[in-house]
Amino acid sequence: MWWFPNLKAIASFGAGVDFLFQDKSLPADVPITRVVDPVLAADMSEFVIGVILAQLKNLLIFKTVQSQGKWLPMEYRRISEVAVGIMGLGELGARLADDLVRIGFKVRGWARSEKFLNGVSCYAGEQDFDAFLSGSELLVCLLPLTPDTRGILNKDLFLKLPEGAYVINVARGGHLVDQDLLEVLDQGHLSGAFLDVFAQEPLPANHPFWKHPKVDMSPHIASVSDVNSVVPQLLENYYRLQKGKPLINQVSTTRGY
Ligand code: NDP
Repeated sequence: MWWFPNLKAIASFGAGVDFLFQDKSLPADVPITRVVDPVLAADMSEFVIGVILAQLKNLLIFKTVQSQGKWLPMEYRRISEVAVGIMGLGELGARLADDLVRIGFKVRGWARSEKFLNGVSCYAGEQDFDAFLSGSELLVCLLPLTPDTRGILNKDLFLKLPEGAYVINVARGGHLVDQDLLEVLDQGHLSGAFLDVFAQEPLPANHPFWKHPKVDMSPHIASVSDVNSVVPQLLENYYRLQKGKPLINQVSTTRGY
């Protein structure tokens, strides 16, 4: 970004800023802001709840067998029986946790720092990671992509989940080690995965995820910044910058999120 010598701030139009930190020419002294928006959080929560309910009630399987002309009654699971684990209890993860608790799920969450959320069993840091994973039958990734979290959805993690667990990645493709997921799905330890985000988007046509019977996908659409909701935040920061006031929703350059 050296070609913008008068740049005063960089505003990401989404919640994630990982793409900015990957830019080697990112100036160190220019503040970065991101979107923090209740509409974005609500959209994400609604999407993940939709995926979870579809999984509990086998809806995606019924759609597949319908196209094959098969009548296939299957056992379903009840909300009250299922423990959902959320990796990342920030703006999006905390909203999802709250909604899931209200619907009646058992909810556990994991973050870097200690959290106290109503009805949620909270775990923090590396020391709590295994305990968090061991009780997460449905695992949702809502972490930011940073050097610490890149590749975190790997074989080691999957094998610490209960037998038959289901993984939902709605954060970033860089969190997932694709080959590890395929291996663990084929070995049968995981029952399936839902992926909204991918290391390369659009997902290349020859990628094994497309045709894998245990992988369901959407095209990075879980939650999209709403222009009407987000533009006022950008304007607010523009005016703050002009008046020399601190910016809202500023990202920590040391943490990378
Ligand atoms: P936040 O920054 O508000 O929250 C991030 C959470 O992750 C925090 O709880 C933080 O812990 C935790 N965390 C970060 N690093 C670690 C770590 N190393 N170990 C454990 N926990 C960690 O982010 P948002 O909730 O706003 O967004 C999350 C991500 O969702 C975005 O970065 C983006 O990639 C993705 N996203 C995807 C969309 C889609 O359509 N698929 C749409 C929007 C966002 P602590 O609280 O202790 O700091």
